Amino acid sequence: MKVKDCLFCKVAAREIDAKFVAEGDDWVAFRDINPQAPTHVLVIPREHVPTSNDLRPYQEALVGQLVRAAAEIARGEGIAEEGYRIVLNCNRGAGQSVFHLHLHLLGGRPMRWPPG
Ligand code: 5GP
Ligand code: ZN
Repeated sequence: MKVKDCLFCKVAAREIDAKFVAEGDDWVAFRDINPQAPTHVLVIPREHVPTSNDLRPYQEALVGQLVRAAAEIARGEGIAEEGYRIVLNCNRGAGQSVFHLHLHLLGGRPMRWPPG
């Protein structure tokens, strides 16, 4: 798939509407269109990376920024202390449906383990 056809590249470029909650130079965060918890935010890099399998050494700091952003958003949502879950689905077997790397930040309800 070409980058110009990527749904989340279009969200990051503001070509598709989304409820943005935060952004940085290298990432954006917006609410999931089909929330699975009271807080369900997606944190994505501006750069197109299809899956975690495609990450390169130069992107290590970027991944750190995504996790730190999720933690900051969790604080802002008031769920940092009670706890939240960060999910990164890789490929279809794990449930990935949009092939632009994203972290799911989920919280505001009890999280069971093991996940489905
Ligand atoms: P995945 O299944 O790839 O891990 O997660 C993709 C997520 O993107 C799903 O939770 C889905 O609800 C969400 N999603 C799909 N299309 C859109 C959209 O156009 N806007 C927003 N905000 N979320 C989307
Ligand atoms: Zn993309």
